[in-house]
Amino acid sequence: MLVIMKPGTPEAAAAGVITRLRMAGLAVHRTEHDGRVRVAAVGDTTAVDWKEVERWPGVESVSRLARPFKLASRAFRPHDSVISVGKVAIGGPQLAIMAGPCSVEGEEQVFTIARAVAQAGATVLRGGAYKPRTSPYAFQGLGEEGLKLLRRAADANGLAVVSEVMEPQLVPLLARYADILQVGARNMQNYALLREVGHTNKPALLKRGLSSTIEEWLLSAEHIMAHGNSQVILCERGIRTFETYTRNTLDLNAVPVVKELSHLPVIVDPSHGTGIRDKVAPMARAAIAAGADGLIVEVHHDPERALSDGAQSLRPEQFHELVRQIRTIAEVVGRTV
Ligand code: PEP
Ligand code: MN
Repeated sequence: MLVIMKPGTPEAAAAGVITRLRMAGLAVHRTEHDGRVRVAAVGDTTAVDWKEVERWPGVESVSRLARPFKLASRAFRPHDSVISVGKVAIGGPQLAIMAGPCSVEGEEQVFTIARAVAQAGATVLRGGAYKPRTSPYAFQGLGEEGLKLLRRAADANGLAVVSEVMEPQLVPLLARYADILQVGARNMQNYALLREVGHTNKPALLKRGLSSTIEEWLLSAEHIMAHGNSQVILCERGIRTFETYTRNTLDLNAVPVVKELSHLPVIVDPSHGTGIRDKVAPMARAAIAAGADGLIVEVHHDPERALSDGAQSLRPEQFHELVRQIRTIAEVVGRTV
């Protein structure tokens, strides 16, 4: 349920409403919009007489939050969420450009790529240290050693860090090194992992599952938010369809659809979305034109020798050129790089 307080209601009245709803066994979350405190009450809402709540001091209106995702919905929070990560504000006018290798492979590799993407205009360094690989015989990542290298390479170039966490037990470790915790497509419905990420105060980058609907994706965001972490960045990374020419089918419909349904920022991963190096830039441009809040792009200085996803990794000069093009498109859609 959504309780909207009258404009200028004293804080004590809003606090009173929140306390009474909590005493009724509901989880309560608040936001502010248009000079009004907005209170979302979730849980078993049948125990409360909502007609009565309408008469509580300071209450302007009571309505049902119709969507199954409540905290992630625009009905609860009408204005865009902006998530701050160091000097980057994700979801604001400036586009978030995240780039780096699929996997951290070694010191020279990650430092070379970090320098190149920073020079091109990226503000967040990506890189997997714990890799979800389809084959158990493929490179699984360098683990904590990889995180240390990623952190040092990012710090040396003034970048923030995003890296994937695959297991609930590893959330505290990832939170020590990364600024943004990536939940991978394969783990979008790993509820134990979502809960642990929800217990941190680190922004989460929630990738859309390979076969997940937009509603399921937003409900996964809701899991993180329901556990107290409202800093969720959604990432469209392509879904599985009957098409086999590309690795996945990048669902750019999702961008304007999510923008309508949710206040959360949404970025696009054209690397996993296409799986083909020379298809990455056109789809990255399209993503920004469609209203995405940013990009996450795989970049490798020696993609032929990359230990994962070389075929979809841009060379540094290609990434540089892409950012140049994105600057032009950004202007058309009222954004900056
Ligand atoms: C990745 O970012 O390298 C990755 C494994 O992504 P996804 O979870 O989208 O497949
Ligand atoms: Mn990858």
